Amino acid sequence: MEDRFVYADNAATTPIDPRVLEKMMPFLTTEYGNASTLYSLGSSSRDAMEEARRQVALLMNADPGEIYFTGCGSESDNMALRGWMHSKQNKGKKHLITTKIEHHAILHTAQALEKEGFEVTYLPVDKHGMVELDVLEQAIRPDTALVSIMFANNEIGTVNPIAEIGKLCKEKGVIFHTDAVQAYGHVPVDVKAMNIDILSISGHKINAPKGVGAIYIRKGILLNPVITGGGQEKGRRAGTENVASIVGLGEAARIKRETMEEEAAYVGKLSRKLIDGVLKFPQTILTGHPEQRLPGTCSFCINAIEGESLVLMLDFNGICASTGSACSTGSLDPSHVLLGIGLSHEISHGSLRLTLGMQNTEEDVDYILERLEQVVKTLRAMSPIWHD
Ligand SMILES: *Cc1c(COP(=O)(O)O)cnc(C)c1O
Repeated sequence: MEDRFVYADNAATTPIDPRVLEKMMPFLTTEYGNASTLYSLGSSSRDAMEEARRQVALLMNADPGEIYFTGCGSESDNMALRGWMHSKQNKGKKHLITTKIEHHAILHTAQALEKEGFEVTYLPVDKHGMVELDVLEQAIRPDTALVSIMFANNEIGTVNPIAEIGKLCKEKGVIFHTDAVQAYGHVPVDVKAMNIDILSISGHKINAPKGVGAIYIRKGILLNPVITGGGQEKGRRAGTENVASIVGLGEAARIKRETMEEEAAYVGKLSRKLIDGVLKFPQTILTGHPEQRLPGTCSFCINAIEGESLVLMLDFNGICASTGSACSTGSLDPSHVLLGIGLSHEISHGSLRLTLGMQNTEEDVDYILERLEQVVKTLRAMSPIWHD
C-alpha cells in the first residue's frame, strides 16, 4: 500500500472534534467575560458553563450540581484521593485501597499520601488486569476511607466490573472513586446504577481539548479542596474557569451521548480486525481481557522485539503507536501494568499499543497490518533472541 498517516494512539490523546472547536471559538474571541462578574458579558460565559455541566452530567447520569470542572484528569484524581483522605484524616480513617495497575495520577498520589502517614493497599489484579471482588472484599478494613479502582485501563483496555465493585463498597459503607478517564464517552457510565461516589474524567480523551477535566462528587460528600483561592466551583476548586475548554468538554459529552453506541460498534469492528490480524503473526499475544475491553484498545506483546524499536519504525511508516516497554517511561522497568498482570520483563519488552478512534478506517487497519508485519520481520531478523 501507498504510504499514509495513521493516528492509532487515541488512548494517549484524541484530536479535537471540529464541532467542539466551533462551539469553543466565541469563548476564545468575543465572549471573554469572567464568569464570576455581574455584567452581561460574564453571564454568557456563566450560562455556557452551566450548559456544559448539564451535558457532562447527562452522559454519566449525574445531577449537574454534582459536576465540578478541573484542569485535567490528573487533577481530578488528585482531588479525589487527597481531598477525601485529608477530610478523613482526623476521623480515624487512614486506609486507602487502590490497584497495582492504576494510572500514575492515582499511584503517585497514593505514594505521596503514604509519605504523609496514610496506609495504602495496592490490590493485585488477575492475568487480564481485572480486579477480583473477593480480593477487594478481604482488603476492606474498618478504617478504610476510600476505594479507588480505575474503570478501564489505559494500557491494556480492560474494563473492570464497576457495578459490582460499587455495590460491594456501598454494602461495606466505603466511598468508591473511579478513574473513568478512558471509559467516559467510550462505554456506558452510570454513577447511580453503578453506585459510584466520585469519578474522574478528562477532556482530551473524548475529542475535547487538553487541559480540562471534571470530577463528579456525589451530593453530600465533602472533599477538602486541593486548589484554594476564589470561590469558583462552589469553593471546591479555585481559579478562574477555563470557559472555552469547559464549553468544549460539554459539547464533546453531548456528541458522545448521541454517537457513543455507534462509535463503539464501528471502532470495535476495526479493533477486531486489527487484533485478529496481529495475532496471526507468530509468537504474539493480546494483553488485557479478551472480551471486557475498551472498543478501541488493541494491545499486544510481540516476542523477541523491543517496543521502542517497533514504535520508532512504525513512525517511519507514518503510524503513531505506543509501548509500555522500558525506555518509553525513562526507566529500566517495563510498565507497572504489564508487570501487574504477571508478564515477565522479557515478554513486556515487546509491548505495543494501538488505540483506534472514529477517524480511523478499514484502510488504516490494512495499512497497519501490512507495515507492522514488515517491521516485525525486519526487527526479528536482527534480534539475537528470535527463534521461530
Ligand atoms: C489520560 C489519563 C489520565 C490523566 O488525564 P490528564 O487529563 O492527561 O491529566 C488519568 N487516568 C487515565 C486512566 C488516563 O488515561
